[in-house]
Amino acid sequence: MTIPFTESEERAALRESVKSLAAKYGHAYVAEQARKGEKTTALWDDFGKHGFIGVNIPEEYGGGGGGMGDLAAVLEEASAQGAPLLMMVVSPAIVGSIIARCGTEEQKKQWLPGIASGETVAAFAITEPDAGSNSHQITTTATRDGDSWVIKGQKTFISGVDEADVMLVVARTADAKTGKLKPALFLMPTDAAGLEKQHIPMEFVAPEKQWTLFFDDVRLPADALVGDEDGGLWQLFAGLNPERIMGAAMTCGQARYALEKAVDYAKTRTVWKDQPIGAHQGIAHPLAKVKIELEQARLLMQKAAALYDAGDDFTAGEYANMAKYAGGEIACNALDVAVQTHGGSGLTTELGLGNQLVAARLGRIAPVSREMILNFVAMHSLGLPKSY
Ligand SMILES: Cc1cc2nc3c(=O)[nH]c(=O)nc-3n(C[C@H](O)[C@H](O)[C@H](O)COP(=O)(O)OP(=O)(O)OC[C@H]3O[C@@H](n4cnc5c(N)ncnc54)[C@H](O)[C@@H]3O)c2cc1C
Repeated sequence: MTIPFTESEERAALRESVKSLAAKYGHAYVAEQARKGEKTTALWDDFGKHGFIGVNIPEEYGGGGGGMGDLAAVLEEASAQGAPLLMMVVSPAIVGSIIARCGTEEQKKQWLPGIASGETVAAFAITEPDAGSNSHQITTTATRDGDSWVIKGQKTFISGVDEADVMLVVARTADAKTGKLKPALFLMPTDAAGLEKQHIPMEFVAPEKQWTLFFDDVRLPADALVGDEDGGLWQLFAGLNPERIMGAAMTCGQARYALEKAVDYAKTRTVWKDQPIGAHQGIAHPLAKVKIELEQARLLMQKAAALYDAGDDFTAGEYANMAKYAGGEIACNALDVAVQTHGGSGLTTELGLGNQLVAARLGRIAPVSREMILNFVAMHSLGLPKSY
């Protein structure tokens, strides 16, 4: 397989179209909606109408027929305009990919056109309070009862349940209560009887909210199961690798946004004679370092997406993890440098970088933490002993 170092003309054109649409909204729109406690629905709908949300979904199900590299490019460009759409990481990337690869023909016809157009929003629920990073310990259980599945358990930090129509829930089947995780995936409507939602207040302001969920014997039809109940981990990773690639895309975009703001300011802010502050190496070098590390992260992200699109899931997994790590680091570093470059203005509400500085920490925690990626790379890439 050969992976080029430059993107195709089509991908470049896609980036330009996304950039100009996202720029019409920009960070000001997102911040205002978030502060009012409202969603960025107009932005989402506009992205849907332009075919950006479903760019990775197969054409026969209403999508653009592109790959994860295209979807990642869309999210990166939106994010670079200060207008990231967190639910793109979940709805078309995780849930869309899993249904497209593992779903039945009926499930594809039922769900993919809506996910592609953005009219259907899908959330994804794997994290549990007592399992956290150790997904092998999840205890949410799916039990067969005649033609139905009955789901019992709890999830936490699930994004966007209030704006989603459906969510893909990761559970264990009753006969797989112990031992290694044998994930079974279920589509659950967000208004299902027996589902309780509790909002988790967060210290950063964003349009997307996080939720703790309680499943009290939620009854689902037999066709809620996506894939094979004994299908194993690959079905889950058909969605988790895209999630990590999209996490990297979002954080690379955040870093681009912060870097651009900081560079503009460093070129124009003058406090010593006629020189702008960017003439001082104390300001210029951290910005140059961010630029280099950002390009490293973007290369990893593009390589991971290209591997996933080429069907090399195993190697894609390794690069998706490394890209997610690099993206999380560069978003945090870029926001930190951008705030410092702005001096006191860096923390004003008007500039909006302070809130993003906190939000960027998410890239080191979710969907998989920096430490768990280091564990993975130490063990799988370097062959070191398992440490946990
Ligand atoms: C804003 C937000 C949105 C989210 N959205 C979703 C969502 O939509 N769906 C979903 O399912 N989940 C979601 N999550 C959950 C997210 O994936 C988890 O928070 C993440 O996987 C870490 O799990 P945890 O918070 O339980 O941390 P823990 O597992 O409790 O870890 C705590 C700390 O210990 C470290 N640690 C744990 N084990 C090890 C080890 N073996 N070696 C070294 N260090 C270790 C971790 O890296 C971390 O720093 C979201 C989280 C947030 C904050």
